Amino acid sequence: MEHIKFSSQIKKTSRLAWGMWRFEGDVKNAEILINQVLETQINFFDTADIYGTSEMGYFGACEDLLGKVFENNKGLRQKIILATKGGIVPGLPYNSSKEYLISALDASLKRLKTDVIDIYQIHRPDNLAHPEIVAGVLDNMISSGKVRAIGLSNYKISQIMALDKYLGNKISCIQPEVSLLEISPFENGILDYAMQQDFKVLAWSPLGGGRLLKPKSPIEHELNACLNEMARKYESNIANIALAWLLRHPSKIIPIIGSQNIENIKSCTKALSINLKIEDWYKIFEIACGQKMP
Ligand code: NAP
Repeated sequence: MEHIKFSSQIKKTSRLAWGMWRFEGDVKNAEILINQVLETQINFFDTADIYGTSEMGYFGACEDLLGKVFENNKGLRQKIILATKGGIVPGLPYNSSKEYLISALDASLKRLKTDVIDIYQIHRPDNLAHPEIVAGVLDNMISSGKVRAIGLSNYKISQIMALDKYLGNKISCIQPEVSLLEISPFENGILDYAMQQDFKVLAWSPLGGGRLLKPKSPIEHELNACLNEMARKYESNIANIALAWLLRHPSKIIPIIGSQNIENIKSCTKALSINLKIEDWYKIFEIACGQKMP
């Protein structure tokens, strides 16, 4: 597993992250899975306070489960680069007010049974929050020692720039949806902006939530067929070609693998050894775009 320097505060993270949106079950099995994931050398875990709300029936459920695992196994927390998110609130839907974000961070720390979050991300931008206010809260999160690095998820470039004006170069990463089924980041400039600003890019749903493997729509079928052809050529599989396609981009995208199946997770790590040829990268991109390159 390749590891990369993430930011000045966070020395090393794996090149692939593991997503905990679909994380559930009892504490014992959760601990087994976490240890198995760590054995693959993936040490970068992405969760959120909203995860598990529908599946397990209460807000904070995924963080809570992870916190119980940390409580059971004291050495585990320090082996993990822990990213979480706040700012989505059932019924609102977003809140990035000062009061709310301060309380959301404290609640995440409590559930996760940790003193510090490595990367705290605003989950989605709140139209009603002035960037100067949000920046002030994020800055305080760092200076209080409760958070090591800041990230922004689902933000537009203009929203990142507005926040950055007040935060002053303290954004470490962004987290847009990026996959062959969501190619807008390749076209709307956000990946270029990330390279310009030296932000790490975490790609959510890098396999389109699994739709690249179980296609339904015409475009999903077309992509699946092309990825299958490439899988034969590179002696790999569809998931790994789709991940290798993201990994090939110069913005050094970090795909957040969403699988909860350890065999699939182990298999995904092999994507790192695939180096797609230029012509193959563009052949896949043309299908995702629905047209030939000009
Ligand atoms: P994904 O990796 O695109 O999809 C994972 C799904 O694909 C799982 O259901 C998995 O099932 C399935 N799958 C089927 N075959 C697979 C194979 N061979 N290899 C790997 N997976 C396979 O990611 P995702 O779960 O949609 O999202 C990943 C992470 O992104 C989340 O956990 C979360 O951390 C983050 N996220 C962030 C946002 C945001 O707004 N910031 C939104 C959504 C997600 P199995 O479990 O059976 O393998």
